[in-house]
Amino acid sequence: MGLPVIGFDDELTEQVCSRAGCTLLAGWNVNWRNPRIHGVERVKIWLACDEHRDYLHDYLEARDFPVVVSPLSRPLDRLPGPLTAETRLP
Ligand SMILES: [Zn+2]
Repeated sequence: MGLPVIGFDDELTEQVCSRAGCTLLAGWNVNWRNPRIHGVERVKIWLACDEHRDYLHDYLEARDFPVVVSPLSRPLDRLPGPLTAETRLP
């Protein structure tokens, strides 16, 4: 239409998989937090393509981080799972 496309990136950001080196479009949120650092109100989000969804999930789960995969359009604002390190102390 002759209009410059500059500025469109803010609205139509392509959401690319967070896996290093992967350039595929993400279809999933990998919601996680590090209970040693983050309180229960914190949720970190990685983006994942179909191929790396399980990889990223397992990577975090192997570190005992609470992790939940959700569709890209439905990020979580809260994670279930273990309590914070502080509250687990006797
Ligand atoms: Zn990927």
